Amino acid sequence: MKNKYDVLVIGGGPAGAIAARTAAQKGLSVCLIEKRSAIGAPVRCAEGIGQAALSEFVKPDKRWISAEMSGATIVAPDGTVMELESNLAGNKVGYILDRKIFDRELVWQAAEAGSDISVKTRATAPIMDGGIVKGAKVEFCGKVSNVHAEVVIAADGVESKFSRWCGIDTTVPVREIMSSAQYVITDIDIDPHSTIFYLGNEVAPEGYLWVFPKGERTANVGIGISGRKSKTGHRAKDYLDKFVHKTFPKGKTIEFIVGGVSVCQPLDCTVSNGLIITGDAARVVDPLTGGGIYNAMFTGHLAVEVAADCIGKGDTSKKALMAYDAGWRASKIGKSLKRNYHIKEYLITLSDEKLNAIIRSASKLNLTEFSTLNLIKELIKVNPKLVLELGALAASLR
Ligand SMILES: Cc1cc2nc3c(=O)[nH]c(=O)nc-3n(C[C@H](O)[C@H](O)[C@H](O)COP(=O)(O)OP(=O)(O)OC[C@H]3O[C@@H](n4cnc5c(N)ncnc54)[C@H](O)[C@@H]3O)c2cc1C
Repeated sequence: MKNKYDVLVIGGGPAGAIAARTAAQKGLSVCLIEKRSAIGAPVRCAEGIGQAALSEFVKPDKRWISAEMSGATIVAPDGTVMELESNLAGNKVGYILDRKIFDRELVWQAAEAGSDISVKTRATAPIMDGGIVKGAKVEFCGKVSNVHAEVVIAADGVESKFSRWCGIDTTVPVREIMSSAQYVITDIDIDPHSTIFYLGNEVAPEGYLWVFPKGERTANVGIGISGRKSKTGHRAKDYLDKFVHKTFPKGKTIEFIVGGVSVCQPLDCTVSNGLIITGDAARVVDPLTGGGIYNAMFTGHLAVEVAADCIGKGDTSKKALMAYDAGWRASKIGKSLKRNYHIKEYLITLSDEKLNAIIRSASKLNLTEFSTLNLIKELIKVNPKLVLELGALAASLR
């Protein structure tokens, strides 16, 4: 690791890896630092991603794809089932990755393109000069050094601290943190090509429970519930254990993780002087699904597109870097984050009876292509009262 780069990337997840790869491909000098001793582990993810979305950034490869999905099933609180076949499920079907290998592959690609990589290297503070981020203090094996950069890219995930150290408010309200727990369970009977989502206040209050196959008889079985619903005896793991005990009593657990997912609105501003914030650190996880891999890669890539331009022009001020903030907000992910936030806020108000009714009518709909947007539009057609309940959201869908 040198002490000066064009771009310093903090974090070796999908956002950081794509940022470092893009920077190196553009001929910028770049270093990616990762505080953990190995890229990709431990995995705190259900590992689902749409096929088309993934392919925008990396060619799918069997080495890091655990399973291919051709359908999805949604189960209502009363057990009503809504099946989405592959021709309907659109971007909702895809791959279940093996992120231990996937994350490594992305970082290898960054390294191959010319990026320096340093693991077990933690950013401990920004280097500031007159309100401008000029790099980071980094600690490697107990030794602290200064690494200067024209632009620092904060890709340090949901627990991000770097932006806060730079004076940006990154607080997520407790109710907008999904408290999550997940087992990898093997030796169970599943459909290996279909994901299942269970909804309901008894199963996963203000969240959902998922079964994402990772092979013929193995799956990620996990849950996310609202932080405000998490109480002694009613933690995410308690709900998950109840479900697993009932559904997969003979399954064998080979991995257990807990984690948090932010389902809030994105940060008010995702740049500062000399700083760009990407991925989970920018709070760009889809608030409806909790999916953030694609948005992390998207923002990581865009961050460097803008940074390269600004470095080339010798202006990395907040004003110049705002092209990044404006860019992702105007993009399809910016629009869907806004829309899905409102849908999530609506869905969490629903009683189980209402959820049952919605899934019952949705299961009878003749959707030509499944998407959240299509589903809501069709539901409004069969249940005009929904317009009143959805308020501003319904208006925005017209
Ligand atoms: C239980 C669970 C299930 C999920 N399921 C899905 C899913 O099915 N599909 C989906 O799309 N998304 C899912 N997500 C979300 C997804 O995992 C994240 O959105 C994605 O990993 C974000 O990528 P990132 O690069 O922004 O952050 P991360 O992948 O979190 O990477 C950030 C990296 O920064 C490092 N870091 C942090 N601080 C420092 C520092 N000071 N110095 C150096 N390095 C640092 C961390 O160690 C970490 O490796 C899930 C999340 C959870 C918790």
